[in-house]
Formats: sequence, C-alpha cells, structure tokens
Amino acid sequence: MQSTCLVIAAHPDDIESWCAGTVAVLVRQGWRAAYVLCTSGEKGTSNPNEAPEDVAARREAEQREACHCVSAEEPIFLRLPDGALEDTSELRGLLVREIRRWQPALLITHDPVHPWPPYTTHRDHRIAGRVALDATYPYARDPLHFPEQVRDEGLQPHAVPEVWLFSSDQPDHYVDISSGLEAKIVARLAHASQTSDPDALAASWRRRAEETGHAAGLPLAEAFKRLTL
Ligand SMILES: [Zn+2]
Repeated sequence: MQSTCLVIAAHPDDIESWCAGTVAVLVRQGWRAAYVLCTSGEKGTSNPNEAPEDVAARREAEQREACHCVSAEEPIFLRLPDGALEDTSELRGLLVREIRRWQPALLITHDPVHPWPPYTTHRDHRIAGRVALDATYPYARDPLHFPEQVRDEGLQPHAVPEVWLFSSDQPDHYVDISSGLEAKIVARLAHASQTSDPDALAASWRRRAEETGHAAGLPLAEAFKRLTL
C-alpha cells in the first residue's frame, strides 16, 4: 500500500520554505503527500488597502500551484485566522480529523519546542506545530477523543509512527534533496506574491540546501528533528 506523508503548516509557503525538497523526494519514491494549511495567510501583504479575502484567495491559488510542482495532493485549507492561531480544541479536532483521514506513516510539521530561529519564530508556527504534535499523540490514536469522527464520519483512529519537525534548532535527521531541490525552488517561486526577487530567492535556497547538506556530509539537504512514537 502507498505510504502517506502528511504535512501540517501554519501558512502558504511554509512548506515550500522548509520541506518541499523532502516531499519531492518522497513522491519520487512512491509516497503520497498531503498538505494541511491552518491559515490561508491573509495578512501576507504590504498593501494596507488590500482586502484580506483577496489575499487569501491569491495565496491559496499559489499554494495549489506549489503542490502541483511536487505532485502533492490538492492542499487542505482550514482557513483559521492568520496571525491568530490558538491552541484550541477546535484546531486539535480539525488536525485529528486530517490525521485519521490520511492515516500517515510520516507526519511533518513545525518544531514548536526548539524552533529556529529560537526567539523570533512566528507565533502561528509555534501554535501549529504544538497542536499538530498533540493531535498526533494521543488524540488521533484514541477513539474516545473526538469520538464523533469515528462514530459518525467513518474515520478510524490512527497512531502516527514517526514525526519530522522542520525549522528546528536541534536537527538530527537530514534528507538528501539532490533530486528534489529544483522542484522545491519552483514550488517556492509559485508563491509569487511572497517573492520580490525570484533569482535572489532561488540562489538563497540553493545556498541554504548546500549549507544544510554540509553539516551532514550530503550535497544538498533539508534538516529535521526526528521523533519516533
Ligand atoms: Zn509561516
């Protein structure tokens, strides 16, 4: 059976910035990749006169394009408020539902415990990662949490065996993205509204992949904190 990698992130472009090279490699190896975006990034504009719903629509379209670049599934948008994610039962339940729907062999999300950069991590990133981890263990596993999902929606509880945390200050797992870097860059550039200088951005992502790889003896890499559950 095809294994699924479920990626949970706060905003459109987070996944492309941190782990789309790994996703591209996994898809090439036969994995299915699904993305959950907690917000649609409607605060991501420098124009104070732009309507948030217009920003959200543009960023969702960019995220869909970015998914196509790495052959991921159509993204799932939870449409919670950008900049105002909270650690709530609502968000926990929404993420538990996606974990039960996709039954992932691997979950990838933000490192909420030792995030990089350590003191200036976006608040939504910390919340998304924390709630994703809580949803993974124990909520998605145990049927009496959000029992209506099991009783009424036909979903099965699911124990996620492994989690990789990106944007971690304590990485211990490196993925060779030599075959995925170009797809990652194209996917990141799909977020055109978040890109002022595409050439400079592409160069910086290549440099970062080289530097990360250097730390692990790999040509090009993305780094994670790996948890086995
Ligand atoms: Zn973000």
